[in-house]
Amino acid sequence: MDRGQQANHDSRRTTPDGRANQSYEMDAPSPFRVEPLTDFSRAEARRAMDAALAQVAAQLGTTYFPIINDQAVSTAATFDSLNPSHCKQIVGRCGRSSVEQANAAVAAAKAAFPAWRNTEAAQRADYLFQAAQVMRRRRFELAAWQVYECGKPRREADADVAESIDYCEFYGREMLRLAQPRRRDVPGEENSYFYEPRGVTVVIAPWNFPMAILCGMSAAALVTGNTVVMKPAEQSAVIGAKLMEVFQEAELPPGVVAYLPGIGEEIGPVLVDHPDVAMIAFTGSRGVGLHINRQAAEVRPEQQLIKRVLAELGGKNAIIIDDDADMDEAVHGVAASAFGYAGQKCSACSRVIVLESLHDAFVARLIEATRSLKLAPAEDPGCTVGPVIDADAHQRIRDTIEKGKNEGRLVYAGDAGALKDEGYYIAPHIFAGVAAEASIAQEEIFGPVLAVLRARDLDRALEIANGTPYALTGGLFSRSPENIARVKREFRVGNLYINRKITGALVDRQPFGGFKMSGIGSKAGGPDYLLQFVLPRTITENTLRRGFAPDVGAAELEF
Ligand code: NAD
Repeated sequence: MDRGQQANHDSRRTTPDGRANQSYEMDAPSPFRVEPLTDFSRAEARRAMDAALAQVAAQLGTTYFPIINDQAVSTAATFDSLNPSHCKQIVGRCGRSSVEQANAAVAAAKAAFPAWRNTEAAQRADYLFQAAQVMRRRRFELAAWQVYECGKPRREADADVAESIDYCEFYGREMLRLAQPRRRDVPGEENSYFYEPRGVTVVIAPWNFPMAILCGMSAAALVTGNTVVMKPAEQSAVIGAKLMEVFQEAELPPGVVAYLPGIGEEIGPVLVDHPDVAMIAFTGSRGVGLHINRQAAEVRPEQQLIKRVLAELGGKNAIIIDDDADMDEAVHGVAASAFGYAGQKCSACSRVIVLESLHDAFVARLIEATRSLKLAPAEDPGCTVGPVIDADAHQRIRDTIEKGKNEGRLVYAGDAGALKDEGYYIAPHIFAGVAAEASIAQEEIFGPVLAVLRARDLDRALEIANGTPYALTGGLFSRSPENIARVKREFRVGNLYINRKITGALVDRQPFGGFKMSGIGSKAGGPDYLLQFVLPRTITENTLRRGFAPDVGAAELEF
């Protein structure tokens, strides 16, 4: 173990009657450090990844059923998860959970809740540290599943597994911090302020960070003492099953976490509406997130609590290029932010706002830089731009490109060539001369399509940058300290990056999340995140004892 977590396996369980095992002991963990990314310039790392890809290829097509109370339960129907790089290849078949199974998963989580709530925080944290160890051991294999199921290029898939490890390590430590009650004692009175979990938490995740986001939301809910029903996105349901394997290997008690693959529109509303669900942690599109927020506000007669909704939603992220920007850095930063992983990151750049004097030169350089990006199947080590996730996304992005032709000048249209028939490929596209209010400058596209907007000065650039309903990420390339200071103040987004790409936030170092229509909730991987999963309580005890407390039984007293 390289993090200093010395788990004591024999003492990890609660006592049979569900009370916390008070004797649980764990050495204090070392301070949190971000998990290093794999260095693929090393031959042994490349070989390990190749071997994992071959090993996983031999397992494609397996069926994964829901897991409730630690038991796989078969389903009447299944759905196929396809490889977007080679769309005829089935990565896995997943059980299409029924309404009854969604209800059963909530019932199991409800039954497991009291014992899990009473399990010591240190013990719950230790389960996460164990999960992190399992993921380290299975690192290349877990990344390989992402390459196949989500078309995620190797490096990005590796980073996703590293981020999953980070969430477990970080939230485990955060829980140890939060578990210390705040005391405000005065003579004759003890006051304790502490947190306890909310209850059954439904975690609904997107496909684009297929393990990290599902893992992060689930780990936060679990470590704070909530029980969890994990509903992965359809497109990444196999990776959801792999995360469930990780939690099982970490020996989480039965019922504490369920894996519920299925169709969002079918079982999502059942979970959200369920009167025994205390909290919904959602990451995904604005439309679905707002719908969930509305639905969760309805109170059923038998319901005893008001549901808490956490919703991390989309973005329309912009980078401003100042007139003194370092062109080499700016071009590289924009291309990487806009087209890496085919633009399918919520943090991706989809607008670049260029100051007048640099505009034409910048666009010319950006086109050449974009031309050099390799469009390839995700397993290809040289791939930067892989496929988009599925046929629906492919069609939607193609339609957006057609619409964009009426809204701007298509200055670069990459060609997927022979890959067109192999998978869901869309090469990068760049539109210039786009008006700030055009739909391609206002609506999230979630694909490799970039709008270039021209601004006469920094005032106008900031007005454009802030002029969408979203506030997730943003960036600036500038050499002027004065302009940097101004943009820091006035470009209002959740994560602002100066003179670097705007994707790739790290747990703890760059807590991630936005506001306005980009979501409700505080930042993933940050110091306030776990607070959303708990209820604060205060207990006051009058300790001024008047008279005396006899230490003999009442029966022996004679009054
Ligand atoms: P999506 O909204 O289509 O799906 C997300 C999840 O919701 C899936 O698990 C889906 O099955 C489920 N779902 C669908 N309909 C539902 C319903 N009626 N009730 C309950 N659940 C339902 O999003 P996606 O396509 O998977 O992900 C892409 C979106 O996620 C983009 O908008 C992106 O910006 C956003 N995103 C945001 C962040 C962030 O941190 N802010 C991170 C990643 C992705």
